[in-house]
Amino acid sequence: MMKRTSPIIAAEREYTILKEKDVPISTYFGEDTFNAKVMKDKLPKDIYKRLMETINDDKQLDIDTANSVAHAMKEWAIEKGATHFAHWFQPMTGTTAEKHDAFIEFTDEGEIIERFSGKQLVQGEPDASSFPSGGIRATFEARGYTAWDMSSPAFLRKNGIGTTLCIPTAFISYTGEALDKKTPLLRSIKAVNKSSIRMLRLLGNKKSKKVLTNLGPEQEYFLIDKDYYYKRKDLVLAGRTLLGAPPAKGQELEDQYFGSIKERIQSFMHDVEEELYKLGIPAKTRHNEVAPSQYEIAPIFEEANIAVDHNQLVMDTLNRVAKQHNLALLLHEKPFARINGSGKHVNWSLSTTDGINLINPGKTPHENLQFLVFLTATIRAVHRHADILKASVSSAANDHRLGANEAPPAIISIFLGEQLMKILDDIEKGIVTKATDDAIIDLGIASLPLLSKDSTDRNRTSPFAFTGNKFEFRAVGSSQSISFPATVLNTIVAESLDYLSDKIEAKKGGDINQIVLDLVREVLKESKSVLFSGDNYSSEWHKEAEKRGLPNLKTTPEALPALITDKALNLFEKFEVLSRIEMTSRYKIRVEKYIKDLEIEAKSLKNIVATQIIPAAIRYQKTLASSINAAQALLGKELDLGVQKELLMSVSSLINKTQSGLTTLNEKLKKADSIHDEYKKAEFICNEIKSTMDAIRENVDTLEGVTDDEVWPLPKFWEMLFIC
Ligand code: ADP
Ligand code: MG
Repeated sequence: MMKRTSPIIAAEREYTILKEKDVPISTYFGEDTFNAKVMKDKLPKDIYKRLMETINDDKQLDIDTANSVAHAMKEWAIEKGATHFAHWFQPMTGTTAEKHDAFIEFTDEGEIIERFSGKQLVQGEPDASSFPSGGIRATFEARGYTAWDMSSPAFLRKNGIGTTLCIPTAFISYTGEALDKKTPLLRSIKAVNKSSIRMLRLLGNKKSKKVLTNLGPEQEYFLIDKDYYYKRKDLVLAGRTLLGAPPAKGQELEDQYFGSIKERIQSFMHDVEEELYKLGIPAKTRHNEVAPSQYEIAPIFEEANIAVDHNQLVMDTLNRVAKQHNLALLLHEKPFARINGSGKHVNWSLSTTDGINLINPGKTPHENLQFLVFLTATIRAVHRHADILKASVSSAANDHRLGANEAPPAIISIFLGEQLMKILDDIEKGIVTKATDDAIIDLGIASLPLLSKDSTDRNRTSPFAFTGNKFEFRAVGSSQSISFPATVLNTIVAESLDYLSDKIEAKKGGDINQIVLDLVREVLKESKSVLFSGDNYSSEWHKEAEKRGLPNLKTTPEALPALITDKALNLFEKFEVLSRIEMTSRYKIRVEKYIKDLEIEAKSLKNIVATQIIPAAIRYQKTLASSINAAQALLGKELDLGVQKELLMSVSSLINKTQSGLTTLNEKLKKADSIHDEYKKAEFICNEIKSTMDAIRENVDTLEGVTDDEVWPLPKFWEMLFIC
């Protein structure tokens, strides 16, 4: 069979239809979760009441309640086919982890029965010593334990023919340090709640009890046929293609974006959504994205802790269902060079439990004042801590995307839209002199409600954009957990809210409107350099940003040290989100991860080039050489074979260059091995190894363009991107 006929087989493959449900979504939404409705149904009344109080008021859980809940949970899970339970947690790898235990126990009589105790529900002790801890605990030290997170519902995870009851948990060391991504997020939610409530009280709101963080992540991803995926070691090992010439057609026709969804893909999406609905995940929008074979799924926003868990489950479900459909999911931020990569816009807002969105310009002057305060706090926070925000999304993979004219640059700035910019400008210039409600109305602040999502100018190039009633953090990568970026955002905003509250308190007694306007004016003066409405992709902006003194931390090694400056360490310590040790450990893990990611790439590239590309090219070189020889023997006197020799020459010379590129790569990898300081090693890899890999790639991609299609050993871009 000809090698390149495989695409035809792929294209004509029958897609699997796994659809089970033929009923409205609302009839089965959340059926695989042990949610409040199920609990109400299954738990004794007093237990249910006590549990809800514990969840809502952050109270301690007593063992009787825990036992009772565990029993009901087990009965429910077994009835739905579960045999095992698992504490589901989010170690610092950025993915999720679980260790399964069967619900079985021996009775005194030696018989097996199903049992699940409150203690097992509340606390687990996975011997999870191999997860990165960034030095928090040496592997010989105390183990970590998992603790039930009551605020996120337990769920059933069906995998193959097995069903497991998964219990969302935090993962903590015995000495109390957070070893995961959930714990700091929960702490940051608490911190921003406290600071927001303090501010609301100062603004005269005596009613709202709690402020929640909301997150709505828009998940982008690629799908390719599984056949191609398994034929590419780079995709399997590194998650992205390390080689491959651009196809004759890319995304220039813009015919993919929002186009009608292919039948095979829509069947996949349907199955994904069905799984998500059962898990209580409100998947709302789905569409084709800009690049060929690229798509997006976005749920309705939810409370941050739930949204983070749900986004992990979305990524997991996309992956599992893809396999069932003979597809491969690519979550990497840049799976194909020169083709748009994937991000994850994280929409963020704060709202009170009695329904006030604090990032929403209101209908009354009072609401507008409140909006102005939260807006100003966010602007100040992003201005002060742009470096930490950037560090929170930096990775080897995301470095390919940020600043590549398809995603925001590494410079973190805020886009507010024309109308809002004008209002802030007027306030800052002091055009608002009498801060009466009337003055605010005069200035058009009362027309702010018109700043609805749709009328906002959608500046797609901004890393941090105000979009009507929320901010959209657009620099987050598609494969990343949204937990840490949200943790950072909550913490920096908490700090700025407290800063403003302190100032307001200091001026107690005056007219609150006047105090707030004066304060907004003062803070805007200091922070406004972070505001930018123009094209973030342009080189003028890069120059301008430099003039304004905004950080432009392009690579991960440049960005990560922002996590361990005194500014950052003090901030996270003060708000009890991450201790100095916890923050430093996260920095170390991120540096290590960067090194490992790039070493895996470099080694994969080496292997593919040495064992697939060069052997194929040599075979082709031989064919050319023999053919020229034979032709020379027959036609030598009649025909000049110069151009054919040139072709042979160019193939041979590309083989040479590629081979010597491998030698350089080997030397540099050895050199990297000898560097013991991890940060220096990361820098070396970034500055030296990446460019060597690029040079090899350039030769191989040129070679791809002159070598016989039949002997080329890798699926090509046009196949992977267009045949599905
Ligand atoms: P677009 O692609 O136009 O930016 P999407 O509809 O794909 O918008 O995604 C917008 C996301 O923002 C959704 O997840 C939506 O639920 C979420 N969102 C809407 N309002 C808020 C809010 N107040 N706070 C946080 N997220 C929000
Ligand atoms: Mg979207």
